[in-house]
Amino acid sequence: MIVRISALLISVALVVAPLQVAAQEARSRSILVLNQSDLRGPFYYLVFSGLRSVLSADDRSHLTLYAENLDLSRFRGKNYEALLHRYLKEKYQNAQIDVVVAVGAATLDLVLHWRSDLWPEVPVVFAMIDEIDLVRMQLPDGVTGKVVKLPLADSIKAAHALVPDLETVVFVGDAWDSLTIYRNWKEEIPVATRGLKVIDLVGQTMAEVRRRVAELPDRSAIIYSAMFSDGKGTYYPPATAVGLVAEKANRPIVVAAETFLAPGGAGGFLLVPVRIGEEAARLALRILDGELPSNIAPAVGDAVKPIFNWLQMQRWGVREADLPPGSEIRFREPGLWEKYRWQTFSVAAVLLIQAGLISILLHERHRRANAERESRNRLTELAHAHRQATAGELSSTIAHELNQPLGAILTNTETAELILNSPSPNLSEVKEILADIRRDDIRASEVIHRMRSLLRRVPFEDKVIDLNDTVRKVFEFLSVQASARNIALYFEPSGKPLQVKGDQIQLQQVIMNLIVNSMDAMAAMPNGRAVIGRTEVNGGSSAVVSILDSGPGIPADKLNEVFDPFFSTKKQGMGIGLSISRTIVQAHKGRIWAENQSEGGAVFRLSLPLTLS
Ligand code: ADP
Repeated sequence: MIVRISALLISVALVVAPLQVAAQEARSRSILVLNQSDLRGPFYYLVFSGLRSVLSADDRSHLTLYAENLDLSRFRGKNYEALLHRYLKEKYQNAQIDVVVAVGAATLDLVLHWRSDLWPEVPVVFAMIDEIDLVRMQLPDGVTGKVVKLPLADSIKAAHALVPDLETVVFVGDAWDSLTIYRNWKEEIPVATRGLKVIDLVGQTMAEVRRRVAELPDRSAIIYSAMFSDGKGTYYPPATAVGLVAEKANRPIVVAAETFLAPGGAGGFLLVPVRIGEEAARLALRILDGELPSNIAPAVGDAVKPIFNWLQMQRWGVREADLPPGSEIRFREPGLWEKYRWQTFSVAAVLLIQAGLISILLHERHRRANAERESRNRLTELAHAHRQATAGELSSTIAHELNQPLGAILTNTETAELILNSPSPNLSEVKEILADIRRDDIRASEVIHRMRSLLRRVPFEDKVIDLNDTVRKVFEFLSVQASARNIALYFEPSGKPLQVKGDQIQLQQVIMNLIVNSMDAMAAMPNGRAVIGRTEVNGGSSAVVSILDSGPGIPADKLNEVFDPFFSTKKQGMGIGLSISRTIVQAHKGRIWAENQSEGGAVFRLSLPLTLS
């Protein structure tokens, strides 16, 4: 015992270094704070912090603050009290104390006991006195303070909030009599736990408590008062002890001090130590300012709050709506927004910018699609106009082409009439003549049909077409014109079909321009006039159509220029045929160019992307 007490005194000496709150002017006034328990534990440390912060903030008075730690949770008994009495008397015999602050009922008991000897007439401010203790104590004059209301009934209420179908409460803590704050609960148990089963683990060793709390029944809650010792001489700060219990507990733990929440308490009506200190400091200041303690009636303070641990609520599935009204929730995990505010903000900003860019791009795409549609329409118009012009150019040969079958029909009809007017008409001959007439009529109507299709005005069509078939039709169409102009036309299609995507009429127009140009180029040649068409695959991804002629060719420096609008070397030429052809080919994602053959004559080639069927 001797060894322990001397150890205590050393620890006290460490704590009691006076705190100069403000510089001294006249006589400094002094407050002596007597703490019931260990100031190094979190609870009393926070009480003292609250007290000191209010006193420090006060600039009206010059204060010296003394603090003593009586450690009454661990050391009790007459000898110890006598030792403390002697110690305080010796230490403060020359210090003039203006207010004594007694924190806790056990402290107040001693202060009242010592007062006449140590601090006669000195006002006493108490803090953290349970209202039940207050009734028990006979307060003399000059003593006032704040009362805490911490009934066991409130802890049971909290247990019901945590476990709505509560059946059992489990008491865990040091023996009631050794407790300083919660000892009054003992008397309250029969009433407060009415209708509930009680498992009493009070006073058990820590090992035993940890074993028992691991296998508690469903629908139970632990009510933790405070554990300072494991019953074998090992002492804990009670906040540490609640953590050890929580580690093993299979049910939520109702606690009654704010400092028990973080280590594993689920919540309850909690003593908030900072507020206890603040309330005491405010009263002490009022008294130092001259107010008589007898004019300040002890009253219930504002140091108990319903506070719950969000993490524990999640663990036990507790709903916020089930908590007592006005409950505060601590340790709530921040939502994604709170937790990743900047990251979320950056991502949102990037998304917004991206969305903006996408909408700009979409807008651009829309505009481009519109522009493309518009230019295709224009091209269709232009191509149609040019086809009309070509038809005009071809009209003389077309007329000639029509005249031939029409003339033959006339002659055949006249012959048939003559035969029929003869005395014995040869009907089988008439039959043959009629067959000739039909054939010529079909020929004439084909000419008209081709002419009409050349002059047809249709919107741009995007279809898969066979290029061999497309080119062949143009060669067929121009065959009569060619023979009328004494030109040989040959078409050499590729071995397999060439599928491209586009508008057949426009592509035919390109081929027709090229053939007509070739025929024009050879007009002055006495003989050997020939136009050859060829289609082939180039590298597997494009088709190439070549139109070769045996004309004079194109001057090397004009090979590109011929595609310029209004470039023409012809007397009646408009110079837009090749320019329109290039526009049509480009609209089909293709390319057109001119070359000269080594053996003479020009060759025009156009390549178009093949499409997969
Ligand atoms: P146009 O036929 O009205 O002159 P084009 O644009 O079709 O307009 O042709 C432009 C010019 O290109 C022609 O006037 C001619 O000088 C030249 N050209 C086109 N094809 C050939 C060809 N096969 N051989 C030689 N020159 C050609």
